[in-house]
Amino acid sequence: MSSGEDQEDPERARFIIMPQGETFDGQERVMSREAYHLQVLAISHSTSCGHPGFVPDDYLEHLDGLAIETTITAVELRTIGMWERVHGGYRILDRELVEVSLDHIRQIRAEATQAREREQERETQIHARTARPMVVTPPCAECQAPAARIELVAPGELPAGWEHWDSRKRDSFLRHHEPERWLLIFTGVAAGNGYGGDPIDAGRAGQIAIAFQPPLSFAQVHTAGFHDDAGFCPDCDAPYCYQHWHVSEGGCGYCPRGHGKSLDPHRS
Ligand SMILES: [Zn+2]
Ligand SMILES: [Zn+2]
Repeated sequence: MSSGEDQEDPERARFIIMPQGETFDGQERVMSREAYHLQVLAISHSTSCGHPGFVPDDYLEHLDGLAIETTITAVELRTIGMWERVHGGYRILDRELVEVSLDHIRQIRAEATQAREREQERETQIHARTARPMVVTPPCAECQAPAARIELVAPGELPAGWEHWDSRKRDSFLRHHEPERWLLIFTGVAAGNGYGGDPIDAGRAGQIAIAFQPPLSFAQVHTAGFHDDAGFCPDCDAPYCYQHWHVSEGGCGYCPRGHGKSLDPHRS
């Protein structure tokens, strides 16, 4: 590609000459710098937005709104045979350029996914090291009754108070128990996961253990990701029990200071 006119400063040349050997169909072309830029923008937009090679009219209007002239430029691209008019926009005829752009997008996405997976794996490993058995019952700021109860049972161990469980409850528990995994038994303000709890991996157990390390705060407890934040009101930075959340039928509650919160996992 070479620049025509204004030879003193090629960066500012108004026209770009594409020789025969460099165009997708072997035609020599002269296009304005604006047309060249619009083609580059449009290709990248079309591939990153999942419609490779298609330039929607509303995208051109959007660029117009950003003070990039597109109406005349699109007509120029059409006239020199780079774009063709299709329903709702234009089609870019240089498939090769579109493919190059697609490859580029795929590569960026694959790299981003790999980086994210590595980061998650690293986080899980760090969390797994902090996993420890615990029973935490944040006390209601109004009446000291437990707002919620969070228990982590280590692999091979049994829940706290096991010796007081009756045989029916024990049998049912052992039928579903996965002794090689961590167990989370969560009783929230209005709902929980039952006395049998749910098996979780060590990374998740560690994440919960960090979230419930004293002193408890909303910000810290929130990182555990429980639907009701174990009864913590974000505005008061304090936990409240079922009674003091004034839970309504729809699962929504109000703390004693009137801050609203959804306490139902299916409605939050
Ligand atoms: Zn209370
Ligand atoms: Zn509150």
